[in-house]
Amino acid sequence: MQNRKSDTVDFGLCDDPALCSLDAAVHEAGMTTVFDRYESQQPQCKQGLTGTCCTLCANGPCRITAKSPAGVCGSSPDLIVSRNLLQKAAIGTAGNTYHAENAARALLAAGSGGAFNVRDASRLAALAATLGISAGRSTAGLAQEVASLIIHEINKPDNEEMVLVEALAPARRVAAWRQLGVMPGGVNAEIRTALVKCMTNVNNDPVDLLLTAMKLSIANAYAGLHAINRLQDILMGGAGIGGNSTNLGMLDPATVNISLTAISRCWRRW
Ligand code: SF4
Repeated sequence: MQNRKSDTVDFGLCDDPALCSLDAAVHEAGMTTVFDRYESQQPQCKQGLTGTCCTLCANGPCRITAKSPAGVCGSSPDLIVSRNLLQKAAIGTAGNTYHAENAARALLAAGSGGAFNVRDASRLAALAATLGISAGRSTAGLAQEVASLIIHEINKPDNEEMVLVEALAPARRVAAWRQLGVMPGGVNAEIRTALVKCMTNVNNDPVDLLLTAMKLSIANAYAGLHAINRLQDILMGGAGIGGNSTNLGMLDPATVNISLTAISRCWRRW
């Protein structure tokens, strides 16, 4: 276990009595917080902060400096930065669409009498209508159709545009994305293509790598985050406004505080 270092970074933690006592209890138990660990990382790696370090192959690691403006393979700083960004986009997209596919599999199980239930049939009917699935079926039938469509969308080839994005995104955005060539196909295949582009000497065009990152971000938004929220609301019931007592130590009574809690709510209920 790490020891706490001296307080050289002021995060304003002890402005709040509850957090102050929690902070003390954590340290009494011999543990550290994110603030301690952040402090012990100072100063953070300059190459890491600028994204100009590459560890892709055994000729590296390479870092871009005034003395060495290219990696061993000849990669430019723009190429290294965009490749690093695309790899991160691929990981994030994989995580969210993995979650969405599992939520869709839970809905599929709900539709076939498995361990899950549909708690909000009206949201299921609304999503089915948005996806062009005709009404007039039982809730179980709709659950199976919607879930199967989403699982298919996530797993289809990358040369087949995702119907899910077209159905859920604003039409003007879809038109702009088509014009830019960033409408995604099946997201798992898009992730694989993106990672192949990141291999050494496969794609040396930073602009193409950044456009591929944009394509993944669109897939992530609609086949990942949007799908997760819609599916979990169907399975667990939609959000409602309620009151509760809590102390996050971050609300400022002198200003307007805006809190977005939809995702944390989903995770808590899983
Ligand atoms: S891919 Fe190029 S820049 Fe990256 S570690 Fe290998 S040689 Fe260095």
